[in-house]
Amino acid sequence: MGIHVQSLAVRPMKNKWASCSTRGNLNFNSELLILDRELSDYVIVHEPLHSIAPNHGRMWKSLMRAHLGDCEKIEALLREKQHQLGVAADGARP
Ligand SMILES: [Zn+2]
Repeated sequence: MGIHVQSLAVRPMKNKWASCSTRGNLNFNSELLILDRELSDYVIVHEPLHSIAPNHGRMWKSLMRAHLGDCEKIEALLREKQHQLGVAADGARP
């Protein structure tokens, strides 16, 4: 993806699927390990793209499509999972 990663961790997170600092420190919620692959891939692509595009605007969406194709269906499935698991959406909200 052409993104510099300073550190990467998978750990329990209460409120987010993932976080990414401006320094390139990536954290992923360990609950991603129990999700379907397409859902966890969505988050794994989603979060580091914020080091290029900080919000969910057109730039970010076009980068998401470049990596994952049409991902709107995956976004909807992920929202359902968020609801089921009680993970707040802010870390990697579609
Ligand atoms: Zn996001």
